[in-house]
Amino acid sequence: MPEPVADPADVPSDRTPSDELTRATAALAATAAQLRERGEQAGGTAAEVLDALAMMAEDPALAADVRHRIEDGATAEYAVHAAMATFRDMLVGMGGYLGERAGDLDDVARRAIAHLQGRPAPGIPQSATPFVLVARDLAPADTAMLDLDLVLALITTDGGPTSHTAILAREKGITAVVGAAEAERLRNGDLVLVDAENGEIELDPPQQRIDLALQRTATLEAIRAQSSGPGRLADGRAVPLLANIGSVDSAREAVARGAEGVGLFRTEVLFLGAEAAPSVEAQAATYREVFAQFPGQKVVVRVLDAGADKPLAFLTDAGEENPALGRRGLRALVAHEHVLRDQLTALAQAAAETDALVQVMAPMVSTAAEAQYFCDLAHELGIAVAGVMVEVPSCAIMADHVARNADFMSIGTNDLTQYVFAADRLLGTVAAFQNPWHPAVLRLIESVGTAGAAHDVPVGICGEAAADPLLAVVLVGLGATSLSMSSSAIADVRAELALHSLDDARRLAALAVSAESAETARRAVLDASTHP
Ligand code: PEP
Ligand code: MG
Repeated sequence: MPEPVADPADVPSDRTPSDELTRATAALAATAAQLRERGEQAGGTAAEVLDALAMMAEDPALAADVRHRIEDGATAEYAVHAAMATFRDMLVGMGGYLGERAGDLDDVARRAIAHLQGRPAPGIPQSATPFVLVARDLAPADTAMLDLDLVLALITTDGGPTSHTAILAREKGITAVVGAAEAERLRNGDLVLVDAENGEIELDPPQQRIDLALQRTATLEAIRAQSSGPGRLADGRAVPLLANIGSVDSAREAVARGAEGVGLFRTEVLFLGAEAAPSVEAQAATYREVFAQFPGQKVVVRVLDAGADKPLAFLTDAGEENPALGRRGLRALVAHEHVLRDQLTALAQAAAETDALVQVMAPMVSTAAEAQYFCDLAHELGIAVAGVMVEVPSCAIMADHVARNADFMSIGTNDLTQYVFAADRLLGTVAAFQNPWHPAVLRLIESVGTAGAAHDVPVGICGEAAADPLLAVVLVGLGATSLSMSSSAIADVRAELALHSLDDARRLAALAVSAESAETARRAVLDASTHP
C-alpha cells in the first residue's frame, strides 16, 4: 500500500505558470480517467460513486480556481490542494448529502497530487489478481472496507495485536499479522506465506511449506465445521461463547457464527465520525436494531469508550500528550455526564422494547468508587444489570471491593495488558509486550476470578485473549464464567473448550500463572494439555 500523500507546502514555483497549468490540467484529467476506469472494473453502485468523483476532478469551477492560484505563483500541487480544500469547505457548509461527500474530495486531491509527484495512487491498490496487502497501518475505515475476495491476507509494519486495525481484521476473519517491521523489505510480486496463527511471515516458502499450510488450513476448517452449539467444557459445564461487535452488520455476523449473545458491544465505533453527541432517539433506534438480533440472549453493551485511538469529537480532550492515560472511557463520560445519561436512557428504552437481556458496563473503571457511581447511575436510569470492565490494573487489584459494587465484571485483556506493561498497544516497537499469556496479566485475572467467585459476581473476558483457544481454557481455569470474542474465533474456541474439564483447565491455569514468562507459560500449557 503506497504511503499516504502529505499535504504539499505553499512554496513558490520554479516553473512557468503555463508549465504548471499544463501539469495541473493533465493530473486532474488523469485522475478522472483513473477513477472512471476503477468504476468500470467495479461496476454497480461503486461505478456511480467513482463516476461522481471523476466529475468533481473535472469541475470547471475547480479548474478556474486552480488556474488563478497558478497565475499567482503557486505550484500545480499546491494549487490543486488549496482549490480542493476551498471546494471541500463549501460542501461542508452546505451540509446534508453534499456535506457528507466532502471527504471524497480529499481522496480526489490526493490522487491528483500523487500523479503530479509521479507516485502511485494512494489507498488500497487495484489488482485483478488476489494479493497480500502490506501496509504501514490501515485506518479502521480501510480495514472495514477490504474486499475479502481480493485481499488474501494483511500485513502491517506498525500497530500491535490489539490495535483496532487488528481487532477489525479479526472481526472480518482476515488472515493478518500486525507490527511486523521486517515486512518493509517485501516487494511487489514476492511470494509470501502469512501464518497468522504463529504471527510469522515467510518469504519464498518452499513447496513443502505451502503444502503443509494448505493441509493445516483444511484441518482447521474441518474442526470448525464440526463444532456447533453452546460452549461447554468436557465435563458439561457451560461457558457461554459471546461475540464482540461494533455495528449492526457485525451483530448479524455474530448470529450467523453461532454466538450465544454479545459480551462486548463497542458503541463508540458507531459514532467515530460524529461531530456532536447523537440524540437519545437516534441511539435508541440503532440499539433496537442490534438487540432485535438476540431475542432471549444476553447483550452486554459498553457505554462510549472514547479516547486514545478512538477519539470522539464530543468527548475527547484534544491535545493530551498521553491519551491512553488521559481522560478516556468512563473518565470522559463523568466529565460530560449528560452524554452518559443520554446513552443510558437510550439503552434502557431500546432494552424495554426488545427481548434481548441487556446489560450495560463502563470502560476504563479504575476504582471501586467509580464502579459504584456508574452502576448506581445505570440502575437509576432503568438499566437492570450494570457492571464494569476490568482493564486498569488498579481495578483488578481492588477487584474484591469492585465486586461488591457491580452486578458483573468483564476483563478487557487488551488494555489490561497495555497498562500492566506500560506498553502502548498501538506501537509496533513495543508490540512484544502485548501478550496476555504473560503471568503478570494472568495473575491479575486470577485475582479478579477469585473475587468474582467470592461475591457471586460473574466474570467475563472480552479482550482478544478470549479468542486464543488454548488461552481461553486457561482463562476459564482462572475463574472466567463466559468468554467474548470476535465471532470468527467462536468455532475454534468452542472446539478447544470441549477437550478440557474444569479440573483440567484449573491445572493448566496453575501452570501458566507460575511460569516466568509469556513464552514459558504458553509452552507449559501446550505441553501439558491433551492437545491433538
Ligand atoms: C480491552 O481493552 O480488552 C477491550 C475489550 O476493549 P477495547 O479493545 O475496545 O479497548
Ligand atoms: Mg479497552
